Amino acid sequence: MNESTSMQSGVATTMSAPIAVNRKTFDAVMVPVYAPSAVLPVRGAGLEVWDQDGKRYLDFTAGIAVTSLGHAYPPLVEALCAQAKTLWHLSNAYTNEPVLRLATALIQATFAERVFFSNSGAEANEAAFKLARKHASKQFGAGKSRIISCTNSFHGRTLFTVSVGGQPKYTEGFGPLPQQLTHIPFNDIEAARAAMGDDVCALVVEPVQGEGGVMPATTEYLQALRALCDQHNALLIFDEVQCGMGRTGELFAYIGYGVTPDILTSAKALGNGYPVGAMLTTEAIASTFVVGTHGTTYGGNPLAATVALKVLETIQAPEFLARVRQASQNLVAALQTIIADYRAVFSEVRGSGLMLGMVLSEQYRGRAKEIVKEAEAVGLMLLIAGPDVLRLLPALIVSDAQIDEADSLLRRALGAFLAKPVVAQ
Ligand code: PLP
Repeated sequence: MNESTSMQSGVATTMSAPIAVNRKTFDAVMVPVYAPSAVLPVRGAGLEVWDQDGKRYLDFTAGIAVTSLGHAYPPLVEALCAQAKTLWHLSNAYTNEPVLRLATALIQATFAERVFFSNSGAEANEAAFKLARKHASKQFGAGKSRIISCTNSFHGRTLFTVSVGGQPKYTEGFGPLPQQLTHIPFNDIEAARAAMGDDVCALVVEPVQGEGGVMPATTEYLQALRALCDQHNALLIFDEVQCGMGRTGELFAYIGYGVTPDILTSAKALGNGYPVGAMLTTEAIASTFVVGTHGTTYGGNPLAATVALKVLETIQAPEFLARVRQASQNLVAALQTIIADYRAVFSEVRGSGLMLGMVLSEQYRGRAKEIVKEAEAVGLMLLIAGPDVLRLLPALIVSDAQIDEADSLLRRALGAFLAKPVVAQ
């Protein structure tokens, strides 16, 4: 074994050679809840990623809408390293300067007056659902506990969030599940009207559904949900974990829609890969929670808050958001040309900003994953959103040259996809 011993602050540390690992190690050591690609990335810069063999990829996934400022964005590296040399963690017994600055900046930039920090999107939503139930039970009594959400929605993997999420495949075998949950079809105002009642404490919706197929809500739909919640004293929760933080070309999607929620959840791009989530709300609603009602060890620790503040300051700049909208137009134009050239394969491009889906035609239904694999083989990282939608989520700093490169790589991948014989399923 290649070992050496060094003395640091009087403490002996043993330095071992790194454990040799490859993709096969995953199957040997990990709980098998994921099926990662055979490619094992080891380094990233901007929208470029390199694997163990040194092969380069153009990343149009941003880690599922997370690394919106790209990999290893130098100002974030600098901010994180400076904070790492200063203060990592306290506990909830003490607050810290970075988290207070971050909360203040989020409040200044949005409708919110109070913020709760978590480590992930699921935990931000968990806090939102708990807050909604507590708020209703305090104001109106225990009977007002029902939560309405949409089919095909995704809100996280804790038992509560997975139950609120509208995909039964994620709750199978985990019962008994939290009760008083109603699922309605997305973008269907009549269904929302029929489901709403005085026993509802909250209605939660993703303004742009991500996992459910890159599906934007209509403005009329969100306006109708706002009115229904107001009529029935229910809280309107926007899950902006995927579509927030500049992804739609606005800091948060609700700003573009002109419909303000009572609670908004954020995560993913908020930390650009450093785990952090946030639940934003008003002072009146936040005051339902008192000392000890809810909490977490890490939420808003100095490292996470330092990174998130830098991300927020960068993304909220009007010129940054204007460029996201311009890049979106350029990418949509490129994808529309691809669709025109591959009419048999795709039916439409949909989405918002740099959250885009290419929907497969009837004939190619269920084959999105195969196209992603062909794209990876030619050096382009893409995602799916369900079996029928190719999902593109490039970092928001994507250049026009990178859009052109993705265009030609995707065309090559489609050529290879179409050249292969169909394997019977
Ligand atoms: N909400 C939405 C809309 C998401 O897309 C996701 C993750 O994909 C989550 C919540 C859960 O976030 P996390 O994986 O950070 O718990």
